This record gives sequence, C-alpha cells and structure tokens, in this order.
Amino acid sequence: MTTQNHTDDSCVRCQRTLEAKTYEVSSPSGRLPHCLRCALRYPPMLKKSLIIYLIVGTVLTAINQGDFIAAGVFKPLWSGKSR
Ligand SMILES: [Zn+2]
Repeated sequence: MTTQNHTDDSCVRCQRTLEAKTYEVSSPSGRLPHCLRCALRYPPMLKKSLIIYLIVGTVLTAINQGDFIAAGVFKPLWSGKSR
C-alpha cells in the first residue's frame, strides 16, 4: 500500500478523489480512507472475510444438511427435472 501523495479527500491506495462515501480500514498506521473498490480488495479484510465465510458456511451446512451428511445420503442439489 502506498501512502505517498495522500490527501484527506483521496483514497490512500489508488489516490482517487473520495466523494460522499469513504471506507476506512484499520491498519498498523491507523484508520485509512479508501474508496469502495480498494476497501473491498483490502487483503486483511479479505482474509478475515474468508475465515468467517468458512466458519458460518460450515455451521449452516451442518444445521441444514447435518442429518443427511451423518447418514451418508448425498442427493444431487439439482436434478434437472422439474416435478
Ligand atoms: Zn481506491
């Protein structure tokens, strides 16, 4: 991440002028303003999101499909036929 040429109304990463919406991300040097595109691609946030996705996805799958998985029954998600 570059912080050169940063002004308060520009994105820290791409230097694009920030308009009404600013997204702050936490970093070792404090909370830094980002545009939406850079905030969504911020690597530490992507890593946290992936971890949360894996935990929540596993729990929801266990709740919704746990009995079928425990019984060893694996039905196709979509058979292609409408009944
Ligand atoms: Zn940006």
